[in-house]
Amino acid sequence: MIQLDRVSKRYPIPGGGGKDALRQVSLHLPAGELTFLTGHSGAGKSTLLKLIMMIERPTSGDIIVDGLPLNRIGSGGIPLLRRKIGMVHQNHQLLFDRSVYDNVALPLIIAGFPRAEIGKRVRAALDKVGLLDKEKLNPVMLSGGEQQRIGIARAVVNKPPLLLADEPTGNLDPALSAEIMDLFQDFARVGVAVLIATHDLSLIARYQHRLLSLREGRLIADRGEDAHGA
Ligand code: ADP
Ligand code: ADP
Repeated sequence: MIQLDRVSKRYPIPGGGGKDALRQVSLHLPAGELTFLTGHSGAGKSTLLKLIMMIERPTSGDIIVDGLPLNRIGSGGIPLLRRKIGMVHQNHQLLFDRSVYDNVALPLIIAGFPRAEIGKRVRAALDKVGLLDKEKLNPVMLSGGEQQRIGIARAVVNKPPLLLADEPTGNLDPALSAEIMDLFQDFARVGVAVLIATHDLSLIARYQHRLLSLREGRLIADRGEDAHGA
């Protein structure tokens, strides 16, 4: 589903020089598998997610996402790429001036789905996260765990083959984190490739999923598979 081949990213530093955020990272994330991505602050986790979403471009190396070679698509190809990717953020990034329904519908409205199809899909996504009865509420009325589940419903509403999560349990206690992990595992079970960037070592310890570790931009460990994946 995602393939990285010797990917490096060097950010230019104003005034000269550069910061190597990723160095020669190669990996393969197959469909239907949940993978943790960990490493200290500054190790390159966000950079890796940004490259997969084409928010940043690699300095060298190749990335293929669901058959799309990212070095061969220009900015015109970004909407096509983004439709393949559901993104879950730590702070949910929900709009508090709209209903739960409208928040989840947003990616479908942007993608131009017909209204009847939007209703069907939004309700299917809310049902999946167990919050169908909250569709008319404003997200501000929901608990932190419920808000995170709304963020997940929004990320999967167009059924992307790939789900990326950046510290999705960062603000949640262990019980709520477990609920969120259950949801991610459900998506992996139906074939979605799930990548969870996290500092939360207790979360990683509790689940026997594949683990990628970054240190100073290098992939230093890959629990569960060969580090070079390809
Ligand atoms: P993580 O998400 O693991 O904390 P990042 O990918 O955010 O790591 O950062 C990796 C390294 O790249 C860090 O040293 C960071 O300071 C640097 N970095 C990230 N973004 C930029 C940028 N836009 N310009 C310059 N340096 C950056
Ligand atoms: P359709 O709209 O094509 O009839 P459904 O809404 O009945 O499909 O969904 C079929 C199943 O596909 C769902 O129950 C769900 O578990 C699964 N599924 C496959 N890929 C995804 C994804 N990326 N996100 C969420 N569900 C998915």
